[in-house]
Amino acid sequence: MHSSHFDVIIAGGGPTGAMLAAELRLHDVRVLVLEKETEPASFVRIVGLHIRSIELMAMRGLLERILERGRRRPAGAYFAAIDKPAPDGLDSAHAYLLGIPQPVIVRLLEEHAIELGAQVRHGCAVVGFEQDDDGVTVELADGERLRSRYLVGCDGGRSTVRKLLGVAFPGEPSRNETLMGEMEMGAPQEEIAAKVSELRETDRRFSLAPAGVGVYRVVVPTAGVTDRAAPPTLEDFRRQLRAVAGTDFGAHSPRWLSRFGDATRLAERYRVGRVLLAGDAAHVHPPIGGQGLNLGVQDAVNLGWKLAAQVRGWAPEKLLDTYHAERHPVAEDVLDNTRAQMELLSAEPGPRAVRRLLTELMDFEEVNRHLMEKITAIGIRYDFGAGPDLLGRRLPDIDLKQGHLYGLLHRGRGLLLDRTERLTVGGWSDRVDHLGDPTAALDAPCVLLRPDGHVAWIGDDQRDLDDHLARWFGEPAN
Ligand SMILES: Cc1cc2nc3c(=O)[nH]c(=O)nc-3n(C[C@H](O)[C@H](O)[C@H](O)COP(=O)(O)OP(=O)(O)OC[C@H]3O[C@@H](n4cnc5c(N)ncnc54)[C@H](O)[C@@H]3O)c2cc1C
Repeated sequence: MHSSHFDVIIAGGGPTGAMLAAELRLHDVRVLVLEKETEPASFVRIVGLHIRSIELMAMRGLLERILERGRRRPAGAYFAAIDKPAPDGLDSAHAYLLGIPQPVIVRLLEEHAIELGAQVRHGCAVVGFEQDDDGVTVELADGERLRSRYLVGCDGGRSTVRKLLGVAFPGEPSRNETLMGEMEMGAPQEEIAAKVSELRETDRRFSLAPAGVGVYRVVVPTAGVTDRAAPPTLEDFRRQLRAVAGTDFGAHSPRWLSRFGDATRLAERYRVGRVLLAGDAAHVHPPIGGQGLNLGVQDAVNLGWKLAAQVRGWAPEKLLDTYHAERHPVAEDVLDNTRAQMELLSAEPGPRAVRRLLTELMDFEEVNRHLMEKITAIGIRYDFGAGPDLLGRRLPDIDLKQGHLYGLLHRGRGLLLDRTERLTVGGWSDRVDHLGDPTAALDAPCVLLRPDGHVAWIGDDQRDLDDHLARWFGEPAN
């Protein structure tokens, strides 16, 4: 027997799943998140939120909450940790990096989703599903079966949903592992500092930095690959520190210990019928450049309104498939840039020479800007067909008569920004807002924004606008 009926079940309540749940709730979709863990992760990984993700938080009214819990840092020095400041005049009102513990982000996003009406169940692992013409039956580890119209696998790199779907996950397996943890050190601070600065010259994958009174965060590469299901021990850290630094610095009293690999893989398809994949379930890569969580949150914002449109019945025929068409190439590009960054960290003479050359090239503003826009995801341009350069790009948080643009996007609806003040959204007004503002700082007469903030149309002709409203928002209401 099926105990309930939902529109969408999300497997996995990490950052991607929580963000997607909130996006779906903006459109009144009945959504259930199933998270297998009962408690948040014990390790406190500090992640970097890059510009586009910070913008998305502003677009959904979450900026204040996120800023309160994070630490702003300069936006530069993220590509392969090459120490160059960000170029001047980055086109964003939020041109910084926000360092924030991952469990804090997950909690904030989950609270946000619940406030909007999402149901979240912890301690519920998805172990199976079957799809048919009308929906998906999802099976939990305790045998309970739930029914929904769609299922989204946001269940991380080892995604059960992806494996059960039989979607191929080609790429490179993990070849190197890194231990990461926090612990106290018996050695004097000066001795540690001297050794660390000496080692940073030769091994960029090693770091040992203060993380509170008497506590250090240790990141140390290991030789070879182990069984990652087994948690690392303090002795593993000591051994690896001795191998890399010649001393274990008297490491003791660990707060938490973890390990991660450098597998690089991309799901071949993001959708099979009524089942979709997002976040790490769809793509994995090494953490260099800090892009994984950002990519997953951005997947969620791309998918949310499209899946909602499908559920609510107004989605144009191919809208849901644009999720794969738009996001798969973005992940492909991120995987490639992490491959390149990993090469640039190598201590071999060849890669070190390439690193020196790239460091020189980054003195050219255009090169620095290009890499910056890649890492921060503000350079993304989806392919919406021929048109001006702005078409398919995200619009920054520009000033309007009515306040900041992003303040008007909290509800996740489309928006027509109309500088002519003579166009109308007509029968689409239940899905798209209209804002007349001749003062808008725009290099175009009017733009139509999708709920994810990307420019879907530019022009000043009502008939052309109607065609594009139909393309993205379906048939007008009567
Ligand atoms: C050391 C390190 C540093 C990083 N730094 C950054 C950074 O600075 N910036 C950045 O953007 N990214 C960073 N990342 C990457 C980032 O942590 C991941 O990309 C991010 O966690 C992916 O989010 P997700 O929600 O897609 O998957 P996950 O965070 O893996 O969440 C998946 C969730 O699904 C649950 N789950 C799994 N299986 C099931 C099941 N069968 N049923 C129900 N629930 C299930 C899991 O318990 C988990 O809660 C870093 C990663 C590492 C290892």
